[in-house]
Amino acid sequence: MDKFDDKGYFDAFIRTAQYLATLSPEADFWLQLGKVMTVFFGADLAIFGELKQGEACIHHCTSTDERLCAGIFAGTQETMAQVLESGFMASEVIRVPEPYSVAFLPIIQESRPIAVMAVAHRSASPLPKGALNIYLAVAGLAGTTLANLASQERLQQSKRDLEKALEEMQKFARLASHDLQEPLRMVASYVQLLQKKYANQLDAKGAEYCSFAVEGAVRMQDMIHDLLQYSRIDTKGEPFRPTDLEIVLRNTLASLGADIETSGAEITHEDLPTVIADPSQMKVLFQNLIGNAIKFRSIEPPLIQVRVQKQAGEWLFSVKDNGIGIDPRYTQRIFDVFERLHRRGEYPGTGMGLAVCKKIVERHGGRIRAESQVGRGSTFFFTIPALQD
Ligand code: ADP
Repeated sequence: MDKFDDKGYFDAFIRTAQYLATLSPEADFWLQLGKVMTVFFGADLAIFGELKQGEACIHHCTSTDERLCAGIFAGTQETMAQVLESGFMASEVIRVPEPYSVAFLPIIQESRPIAVMAVAHRSASPLPKGALNIYLAVAGLAGTTLANLASQERLQQSKRDLEKALEEMQKFARLASHDLQEPLRMVASYVQLLQKKYANQLDAKGAEYCSFAVEGAVRMQDMIHDLLQYSRIDTKGEPFRPTDLEIVLRNTLASLGADIETSGAEITHEDLPTVIADPSQMKVLFQNLIGNAIKFRSIEPPLIQVRVQKQAGEWLFSVKDNGIGIDPRYTQRIFDVFERLHRRGEYPGTGMGLAVCKKIVERHGGRIRAESQVGRGSTFFFTIPALQD
């Protein structure tokens, strides 16, 4: 073989390694490996075979010269089968009718030969040992690449499965909560009717049970409503656009007007920036955080500070209150769905507000967390990516 000196083979091996490393699971691996053998190593032909019912068969050939391909395969089929069974390399010169020097390399995955690569160079002399060693290394590389691609593919598949399952779950949650609303309305209104119509016949216990039933139904309606809102954050969000948070905050405070007035809350804020966001969701975010700051107030009138500072490509917002505070052990849990730290009836709410906030912030590529101590007020921090200057 004078086509390549050992160095030439070695360089081709390095390029092969680099090339194989770029392959994605979508690439037709055998086709690419075949190209490598002809382009980098100047092989006249490469045949890839596997065992089927004890016999070697072709699953890819690089040449369009079918007669040559069939001829070489027929002449080497037995050796290919041996290599596939034993996992050892072989090499021979065959005539079809011109002489071809063929190297047979097992492609091993999980210590099992899964395929054989037969590389043929038109030559009457056998391939030099150096070349055979390099080819053996290429076959080793091919086995690892193949395993890598399979695991990448498995990973992508499980990601696709997960996304599909999530989508289905959200669809289910949406449908279920939508469909549940109707019968629930019926339960609430019929128990109310019962209360009204049989008011004279019901004793104190009976009337109490009816109120519990109505209360339960109304609470469930609220929970379903909030769950629906939660499930729509990702699926029914508006497209992002430049959003002036000064305007958003102004609208939020207008919506909270009655609560602000009755609680005597004082709300201060720094100049808020314009961000790329879903304006309606930004309003929900501020409304939930400021609403909580008012709801969970101490005996003092609420003092709420909205602040913002720019840091490494993002805005860090904070909403600080002087309310009842939260035990630091629970400052993560409160962002879970339906998570509340108080007995029912103590404060209104379903425990979805902060879960909604978290999902909104995450949809915008930010993070949210809380710092607090019981009796010392709470501060909620969240980030939103900043507009590029
Ligand atoms: P909800 O307000 O409906 O109870 P949230 O998800 O908004 O639900 O809040 C979860 C829990 O976190 C609340 O029940 C409350 O115990 C606690 N919490 C939230 N915000 C504050 C706050 N500013 N001060 C004290 N506790 C808070």
